[in-house]
Amino acid sequence: MNYYSTNKQAPVASLEEAVVKGLAADKGLFMPERIRRLPEEFFDTIDHLSFQEIAYRVADAFFGDDIPADKLRHIVEDTLSFDTPLVPVSDGIYSLELFHGPTLAFKDVGARFMARLLGHFISQRNDKGVVNVLVATSGDTGSAVANGFLGVEGIRVYVLYPKGKVSEIQEKQFTTLGRNITAIEVDGTFDDCQAMVKAAFMDKELNERLTLTSANSINVARFLPQAFYYFQAYAQLKRLGKAYNVVVCVPSGNFGNITAGLFGKHMGLPIKRFIAANNRNDIFYQYLLTGQYTPRPSIATIANAMDVGDPSNFARVLDLYGHSHDAITADIAGATYTDEQIALTIADTWHRHHYLLDPHGACGYRALAEGLRPGETGVFLETAHPAKFLHTVERIIAQPVEIPTKLQAFLKGEKQSVPIGTGVEELKGVIRG
Ligand SMILES: *Cc1c(COP(=O)(O)O)cnc(C)c1O
Repeated sequence: MNYYSTNKQAPVASLEEAVVKGLAADKGLFMPERIRRLPEEFFDTIDHLSFQEIAYRVADAFFGDDIPADKLRHIVEDTLSFDTPLVPVSDGIYSLELFHGPTLAFKDVGARFMARLLGHFISQRNDKGVVNVLVATSGDTGSAVANGFLGVEGIRVYVLYPKGKVSEIQEKQFTTLGRNITAIEVDGTFDDCQAMVKAAFMDKELNERLTLTSANSINVARFLPQAFYYFQAYAQLKRLGKAYNVVVCVPSGNFGNITAGLFGKHMGLPIKRFIAANNRNDIFYQYLLTGQYTPRPSIATIANAMDVGDPSNFARVLDLYGHSHDAITADIAGATYTDEQIALTIADTWHRHHYLLDPHGACGYRALAEGLRPGETGVFLETAHPAKFLHTVERIIAQPVEIPTKLQAFLKGEKQSVPIGTGVEELKGVIRG
């Protein structure tokens, strides 16, 4: 299947080109040319299928033309080495826990899938040169990408992060791995890191000698696999006899996660409607209200993975709905919460329902608690484990939070990083080795 650009000014690309390039030449985002509807029979029997089988059927609809069936099955099974359980929280509201992967956040699914897909394409190539993946991170993306690509043959990963500006837990998740992962500690800000990665991609000399690619969330191979767990949520609801009038609420920043869910709906997944939950960075919420999309600089909140002032996947939402505000508002509602509201929601849900939310999931839960109509069943995506935001959550519930063994293991590892300044020449020196 081919991929077109949302800006419609670039030639269509093959899956391999779309994955390796990330962004289209006209700076648009790649979209699959077709969204195949899955047969009724699949939805009728989905509750009898394993997560891996469900995910394979979804993956086949997008990638089946381009990857041999046994290979695709292997990639899917290897990606989903963990479950995404549906846990009841309060009356009619369920948490879809997406934090059971290696770095305890939902980005593990997309990062692991992309690493394996890229690894597959590299293994098919005649030249056996290494592909260098560059990623700038303010915290969670670096850990998911580094762990997703760890040990994948033919790939070297460079994670650039701002010195002293990520939490200890986040830093340990990408500085302790070794092998094909190099952490680069930049004496600057996240914006500096991002600018350096961009400069490296533009650098003629470097690109003549080396293959460089990016692993940020706009890559089709990171974003599409996120559709898997919406189908898995539906299968679990069906087993509970609750698969009617399903409302899915997604804590959203760059809108990659919710866009994958919207693709699921277009494939026939019976989800009645979506809610996009924002923190105070409510650009999308304002768009729903007014029809005007007005990006603005992001502001820092306690749900920091959603501190986005110009959501990159908004272009995909517009494209999917033919730029119709009416069509978008028919499928998606919005919500926006302040830090105080997020904190109150975490405390209240902990005391009343004994369920510990993380600050992102808290936005999702609250939007359902406020917005669910009679007869509807709500599922919110719990996008990260609360222990990843240890100090925030402990302060809110005034109680220590247990750190899962997986996180403790990272904390025991020894940090290894290459310290550099903000000049691109220094970065080039590290990549050239
Ligand atoms: C990345 C992230 C989000 C936002 O996801 P988008 O796909 O960017 O909308 C929400 N919560 C957590 C914990 C994240 O890491």
